[in-house]
Order: sequence, then structure tokens, then C-alpha cells
Amino acid sequence: MIVAGPCSAESESMLQEMAELLKSQGLHYLRSGLWKPRTRPDEFEGHGELALPWLARIQKEMGITPIVEVAHPKHVEKCFEAGIKNFWLGARTTINPFAVNEIVQSFENKAQLVFVKNPMTPDLSQWVGAIERVRKSKVQEIVAVHRGFSHFYEKKLRNDPFWEIPLELKKIFPGMKLLCDPSHIAGLRQYVPEISQMAMDLNFDGLMVEVHPSPEGALTDSKQQLNFSEFQNLLQSLQLRSSDQGPSVELEVLRKKIDEIDQRIYELVAKRLELIDQVAHHKFKNKLTSLSYERFLSSLEARKEIARKLGIDEINSEQLYRLLHSWSLEMQEKAFHLYSSQNFSEIRQ
Ligand code: PEP
Ligand code: MN
Repeated sequence: MIVAGPCSAESESMLQEMAELLKSQGLHYLRSGLWKPRTRPDEFEGHGELALPWLARIQKEMGITPIVEVAHPKHVEKCFEAGIKNFWLGARTTINPFAVNEIVQSFENKAQLVFVKNPMTPDLSQWVGAIERVRKSKVQEIVAVHRGFSHFYEKKLRNDPFWEIPLELKKIFPGMKLLCDPSHIAGLRQYVPEISQMAMDLNFDGLMVEVHPSPEGALTDSKQQLNFSEFQNLLQSLQLRSSDQGPSVELEVLRKKIDEIDQRIYELVAKRLELIDQVAHHKFKNKLTSLSYERFLSSLEARKEIARKLGIDEINSEQLYRLLHSWSLEMQEKAFHLYSSQNFSEIRQ
């Protein structure tokens, strides 16, 4: 199943062009946001109900199914009035059980396809809860959409995929279609093909992709939308691989080697943690704080330099160092806590 279309419906003509492209590719589902949830105020928040007649016409004349984000019962009501019955719940909605309940009640058993995106936070149970709530209304079909999870600092991808979460969801709802939204995971259009291929390799049932006739000028998410020819290339280049073949001998050998390397990495991490323990002891004795921000920044730069020299991805390397560093801080805090409780009991004796 492929759902494609602009992040937001900016004009009737762009929707028309998109619908024609979908038709030429034998596709049926047109995504497009009318009420856009923007992180900051004063940004373009979509044309709202003004765009509903555009979609209604395309639905009627072109036989294309529009899918619209709804975040409030009012949105649902307006869509029904225009004859639009296919919706998605966005990441900022599925995180909020009150909102999901209200929207589901407004479906009044009339909604057809309902796509439920994962919530912003990497919390499987919130996603499951939102799907269970939607199930309470008799919608024709529920489809889960994986759009990644937000994070704090700059990374290669706009949202962390944490692929294990959608795969767990699939185990919980085996009969439900699971799509990937590579656009919101990627954040930059150049990464959309690799995320899409990854989803296919993990047996996802399709994609929800942002496509715009001229993405550079898009009013929302301009960096991640594909233009028409990039979208066509994506469709052509996607490889559907079989998951049934048992692993080949060659693959088994490579996996063994990877296992051995991981064993060594973990042994090195254990050695690193022993040193951290000694550092904690020294800092405690000398009344130093666990975090030295200067040292952190210079070490981070040094690790990035190592990554550059090794020719490995700098952003992923940075993430690795940040993880090691926060682990180290956690260990030092634990050690400080232990040392202070020991001192405390000595004083009491
Ligand atoms: C969108 O699909 O344009 C959107 C706002 O998605 P999400 O809820 O995943 O951020
Ligand atoms: Mn978007």
C-alpha cells in the first residue's frame, strides 16, 4: 500500500497534479494535511476547511482516495460534510488519550480507513492504546504508520526509527497493515530512499510518503518532501526481498564475525567502565563534579575527528560517544551516592 502526497494541501492545482501522478502510477491514496500541527506559532498552519472542496472534487472526479489528518472532532465533522471519510491521527494526537477518545467518538462509525501514527515518544503502549481506542469505533480498517520518535539533539535523521517498536506492534496486531512514513523519519529527502528500503526489508506493508511538485518552495516540511521524479525513482528502485529464504552460509559466516566483534566491543566497554569507577573515586575525594562540560565538548570533537579519519559516519559516531558519556555520568553518580552513604555511616559509628 502506497500513500503519497504533500505535507500540506497548498493549492487545488498541486493536488490535481499529485492525483494525476498517483493515477499514472496505478496508486489510489492521496495524503494531504489541511490542519497542520506546527511546533512554533506563526508558521503556516494549513488551509483548513478551505481545502476540503479541492479534495472532495478530486475524490469524485478522479477516483482517488484523499486521506486527511484530523486532530479534533471539528475536523472530522467538516470532512464528513465534504464526503471525506479517510483519516490519519498524527503523532501529536496519538500521544493524548483525551484527544483520541474525542476524535473516535466523532467518527460515529462512519470513518473508513483510519491511519494511526506512532506517538512522538518511543512508547509502544501509547501507540497500542491509541489503536485500541480507534478500534472502539467501527472503522472499516485501521492501518498503523511508523513515523519515528523525536529526540533532543541534532542527529542524521529527524526522528529516531527504533525499528524494534513497530516490529513489536506488528506482533501485537498481526493482521493490521503497518506502513512506514520515511519522510518524517528522514527529515531530509536524501535519506528517504534508504529508510523506505529498510522498511521493505523489515516486511512493512507499504509507505506513506510526502511528495510535492516543487518541494523547495513548500510551505511545510520542505526539506523532506520528494519531487515527482524522485518519487517515481523511489517506486522503481524499491527492492522487495523475500524473507522466507533461510540464511545462506556466506551470510552465516559474516554474522559470526559480527558477533565476535560485538563481543570485543562489550569487553572494551566493561574496561572503560572500570576506569570510570576509578575516575569517580578520584573526583569524590577531591570534591569535583561528575560532569566537566569542557572536557565533554573537547572529547566529543576528538571522537568526531577519529570518525572522520576512519571514514565512518560522524553523526552515528557522535551518538555512540554521547551514549558512552551519559553512561559514564550515570555510573559516577551511583558511585558518589555509594561513597557518601559509606561516609555517612562511618560518621554515625
Ligand atoms: C504529517 O504527516 O505531515 C505530520 C504532521 O505527521 P506527524 O504527525 O507524523 O508529525
Ligand atoms: Mn509533514
